[in-house]
Amino acid sequence: MAQDEIRPEAARQAREEAAERASIAVRPEFRSQTSATSKEKVFEMNGIEVLYSGVSAVKGISMDVGHNEVTALIGPSGCGKSTLLRCLNRMNDLIPNAEVQGELLYHGEDLYGPNVDPVQVRKLIGMVFQKPNPFPKSIYDNIAFGPRILGRKDGMDETVEKALRGAALWEEVKDRLKSSPLALSGGQQQRLCIARTLATEPEVMLLDEPTASLDPASSQKVEELVYELRRQITVVIVTHNMQQAARASDRTAFMLSGELVEVGATRGLFTAPKDPRTEAYITGRFG
Ligand code: ADP
Repeated sequence: MAQDEIRPEAARQAREEAAERASIAVRPEFRSQTSATSKEKVFEMNGIEVLYSGVSAVKGISMDVGHNEVTALIGPSGCGKSTLLRCLNRMNDLIPNAEVQGELLYHGEDLYGPNVDPVQVRKLIGMVFQKPNPFPKSIYDNIAFGPRILGRKDGMDETVEKALRGAALWEEVKDRLKSSPLALSGGQQQRLCIARTLATEPEVMLLDEPTASLDPASSQKVEELVYELRRQITVVIVTHNMQQAARASDRTAFMLSGELVEVGATRGLFTAPKDPRTEAYITGRFG
């Protein structure tokens, strides 16, 4: 019997740790050399298609993601939001039957170019998942995990504190850094995962329905944090919660059946949508 079958949770955790370790490789050249301005495009998508076993899940999407903005991807379940999100840090490369077509520029460079290392991409463009996945280590060691892999030894206490402050969690955990994060609430665990991602200083954070498994109070804290994060980094968040998109994002993209229906400033999209399908969705007529 395989180890996975005996201790599936431990095996999952080991896989996630290994993936995290692999994703924190070293190659600083790919990092943006310019100091980005708020008007700068971080991503430019031109005709992005994603096929699973030859079947289109994302169809010819063209849109930009701006620096230090929160961009929300909304739309009914199955419309391709997570698939599109995974294109942005080449996570779809890890899905054997997935094929990505079209052009995706990151700071003007082809993210899928022959000399680009997907591992390095995933270091610069971090991801936080639906279900919080703290490692079975102390709170401190969860945060220090990435920086240690990067070979950082000095100033670890400061690094850990900065990341926890950046994720609005410091005050809640500063007296229990050596204890297990598994005793934290779901919302605290999710903020811990955000802090763990922040600790390696990514340029972009991708969040895939980060509050889907949380109660309303915890969701609100994570949501407020997401909005605050754009002071530090660029954020793309998938959510099927329209109120969350309206509250926490600067720009919103509405997708339907793999297509981009409309993208624009969040306020405009929610108050004066251009496309009748967007209006139907945001007024709750479907989805
Ligand atoms: P959303 O995030 O909007 O719910 P997804 O991106 O998860 O949508 O899925 C878009 C479509 O692609 C759905 O029809 C889904 O069933 C399909 N899909 C997602 N992942 C896979 C996969 N690994 N293999 C085959 N089909 C997939």
